[in-house]
Amino acid sequence: TSFNSLGLAEPLVRALAAEGYENPTPIQLQAIPPALEGNDLCGIAQTGTGKTAAFALPILHRLGANPAHRRKYSTRVLVLAPTRELASQIAESFATYGRNMKLSIVTIFGGVPIPRQERAMQPGVDIVVATPGRLLDLVDRNSMLLDSVEVLVLDEADQMLDLGFIHALRRVAQLVPRKRQTLFFSATMPKTIAELAGRFLVNPVQIAV
Ligand code: AMP
Repeated sequence: TSFNSLGLAEPLVRALAAEGYENPTPIQLQAIPPALEGNDLCGIAQTGTGKTAAFALPILHRLGANPAHRRKYSTRVLVLAPTRELASQIAESFATYGRNMKLSIVTIFGGVPIPRQERAMQPGVDIVVATPGRLLDLVDRNSMLLDSVEVLVLDEADQMLDLGFIHALRRVAQLVPRKRQTLFFSATMPKTIAELAGRFLVNPVQIAV
């Protein structure tokens, strides 16, 4: 199966070819079709399986298919990740796969000054990749609005819980619109993670690799 036959838009297929990706990985084969249909996903997957592209590609396809209606301090897509390293990698992947599209991608994490991140949010953006703590700092300063999020991704949810982000995640769950698509990934799925997933997901398609 090729990326083309998964139904991904041509600018994406071209970007993947330029990266040397020939075929989808197993998680991409499982995740991309239901995600393109708008389903919520609950995936058990480790890093290195191609999971970033598994969620990034259907999201980029959706953004490409719908005209941008950016609103100030808002984002259409919110990706939450446990660490600044992972957030940066995810943002880089979105930029690579979306290279033939006109997209704004902003990365938000702690340990660096806030004002530059606030300025980046000001015009409104397509994709924010953030660590939960700094994201809520911006929310509390009214320089990040979550009420137009169309797609929410939680990546490495188990690690986010281990790092003590449970309260932050619960707050995010209350701030994003009820009507949205949510893609939830974790390397493990013990009870606490399954409960967290249940808070975010509606009739999710389950995926494991
Ligand atoms: P991830 O699991 O998202 O961290 O991805 C692991 C690595 O696999 C990254 O370096 C990707 O660039 C690469 N990758 C992801 N999907 C594919 C694919 N379909 N074909 C070749 N490489 C891929």
